[in-house]
Amino acid sequence: MSGTNERSALSIAQRQFDAAADAIGLDDSLRAVLREVKRELVVHFPVEMDDGSFRVFTGFRVQHNIARGPAKGGLRYHPAMTLDDARALAMYMTWKTAVADVPFGGAKGGVICDPNILSDGELERLTRRYTAQILDFIGPDRDVPAPDMNTNERTMAWIMDTYAMHAGHATTAVVTGKPMELGGSRGRKEATGRGCMMVTLNALKRFGLTPETTRVVIQGFGNVGGMAARLMAKAGFRIVAIVEYDGAVRNDNGLDIPALETWRRENGSVNGFPGGEAIDKHEAMFLECEVLLPAATENVITSENAAKLNCRILCEGANGPTTHHADEILARKNIFVIPDILANAGGVTVSYFEWVQDRQGYFWNEELVNSRLGEIMDESFDAVVAYASRHNVDNRTAAYMLALDRVATAMRLRGIYA
Ligand code: NAD
Repeated sequence: MSGTNERSALSIAQRQFDAAADAIGLDDSLRAVLREVKRELVVHFPVEMDDGSFRVFTGFRVQHNIARGPAKGGLRYHPAMTLDDARALAMYMTWKTAVADVPFGGAKGGVICDPNILSDGELERLTRRYTAQILDFIGPDRDVPAPDMNTNERTMAWIMDTYAMHAGHATTAVVTGKPMELGGSRGRKEATGRGCMMVTLNALKRFGLTPETTRVVIQGFGNVGGMAARLMAKAGFRIVAIVEYDGAVRNDNGLDIPALETWRRENGSVNGFPGGEAIDKHEAMFLECEVLLPAATENVITSENAAKLNCRILCEGANGPTTHHADEILARKNIFVIPDILANAGGVTVSYFEWVQDRQGYFWNEELVNSRLGEIMDESFDAVVAYASRHNVDNRTAAYMLALDRVATAMRLRGIYA
């Protein structure tokens, strides 16, 4: 695995790993093991298209580490998906599950395809063929996929059904992010956005801020950003701007988030929303605010724009929104970063709850899900911040050091071959 580009996901993942490995003084043997993924599967499989022809698709499933439990990670459908992306994202998952201290390792998968030009039937056949190809690789005790970019609960239902057909019995715990009717968990849809709010609330206390005195700019109004916006507005935060790929909307008194959700649903865009004014989507990121919450995509905060950020807290809802070079600038600006592997761990935490509930065959109410999520997010936040202060490093390095420490300890206990 190699890469030197500031924006290459794998190169960023490896740099962050190297920094943390140096900081905890990780020995060469463990470093060599953890710098590589444990197992990777590349599959090429035919899918019957609606016109009767067959097309061959390529998919991946990569498991980075399984020392602490079954591999866990999303499944992405994207035309630009690469094996290197899957490796990098699998590595991230190992650290994320370790920071949240849930008993999983890290994995990621994907299929190179453009779901926008596939019919529902084609998508279903593609998902089932892909699942059949990776059947021996996944399972409740082996590797538990979940939704990621362009996959959703319907995709998970198809995977679960295909797996169950081969197993000969229902096996709900093979995937998470399922529909409620098929063993999904209450609170899963809101979990990542809710987790972002929970860690932000912890950060506010350090600045003597309350939700009412906190202005928030959110990039991305999808699952993570939209849910964070809704929950944070309800909790009293002032959401002063929402930034989308095709425009941004601003209201210094706080946007009416439910109204904006309705507007976007009906008009397909945040643009033209009467409850705010249009603002250039690039400039919106630099508005003065207490919290900036990038929740759209990776590499949006780079060495080219980091100096212009005007926030006190950066809560990384998206995976990898900040490049390594940008991190150095943020540190100089004294911006309190809640790194992605902590900030967006709410999703994998409730995925863990889903897996537990499926295996128990006993389902929790939403209050219990949310309170247990709160416990884990608060504990993880405290652990990362304490680690940062004890070792005099930034929060991102601390989160990686903590994760690496936990994974390395598990590997030493099991023997380095885990
Ligand atoms: P999503 O597709 O539901 O939402 C993303 C939103 O961002 C969309 O509204 C899209 O239009 C917008 N967007 C895309 N590119 C943009 C750009 N350049 N500028 C502004 N807006 C842009 O996706 P999601 O599930 O909310 O995931 C967002 C990020 O959070 C991704 O990095 C994902 O990997 C990460 N994440 C998601 C979860 C989860 O539970 N959904 C968990 C952990 C991490």
